[in-house]
Amino acid sequence: MPESADITRSEKLKQRLRFYEDLGLAPFYRDRGSSRSPQPPSPASSVVTPSHSIEEPPLPKSSLKPPAVPSPVAPAKAFLPLTPAPPSLFETANRNQSETLLQIRDDLGECTRCKLHTTRNKIVFGDGNPQAKLVFVGEGPGADEDAQGLPFVGRAGKLLTQMIEAMGLERRDVYICNVVKCRPPGNRQPEPDEVEACSPFLFRQLDSLQPKVIVCLGATAFQTLLQSNRSISHFRGQWLDFRGYKMLPTYHPAYLLRNPAAKANVWKDLQKVMAELGLEVKKTKAK
Ligand code: SF4
Repeated sequence: MPESADITRSEKLKQRLRFYEDLGLAPFYRDRGSSRSPQPPSPASSVVTPSHSIEEPPLPKSSLKPPAVPSPVAPAKAFLPLTPAPPSLFETANRNQSETLLQIRDDLGECTRCKLHTTRNKIVFGDGNPQAKLVFVGEGPGADEDAQGLPFVGRAGKLLTQMIEAMGLERRDVYICNVVKCRPPGNRQPEPDEVEACSPFLFRQLDSLQPKVIVCLGATAFQTLLQSNRSISHFRGQWLDFRGYKMLPTYHPAYLLRNPAAKANVWKDLQKVMAELGLEVKKTKAK
């Protein structure tokens, strides 16, 4: 085997081990002979207040006490009823459970429904398994995604892939899409008129997929699905019952790249998802 291939494989292995260590998977890490002793988060420290950023605002002082989060071993009791809201975009969208993703993509066409079409290179419709029980919904494509026409293929995408693999899944097992299908210039947040124009296609995708669990990555996905202006910090890690879909908001991988300390909280969220999907939840022990 060429030496360069060995180096690449070794570097990938190191990255994977660092990632598991960040997630608090101490036993996994130790089994592989590390001399380091990572400190997984104590179960008692259920919320890490995120650093301030545009994408993931910090908890308001009045909310510093985290809401009670039911144990992931009893997900059936963990769904929060939402206060009845005015009809959402989801409700007004044309629900058609027999519609295929291909039909929805055909209908989207070379879309010019909002101004984002003027600056995009490629529409990023979505990618993954049409039979997926787990769907990740992000905000919108970045530069790499815009160039390739695929969601989550940049740095944040690599981290999402690691998260999926840490759950014992592969990307081909899940479906990944965004609220808007074209890249907002400079990676800015999508504007309300852009979300309004594009999100009906997201809703149709979800109707077609009929997933068991939707994981919202970041505030835009969560706020679009729930038609809410509330900070994701209010609901992060909590099960929400959204029109029959079990939805769990968590931080966006791009936020984790800037705030690695939040990975432990996201891992706890993903463990809840694993329990809901019947996947083996790896136990973590604080030393
Ligand atoms: S973001 Fe959505 S609505 Fe806007 S042009 Fe792209 S595909 Fe069409």
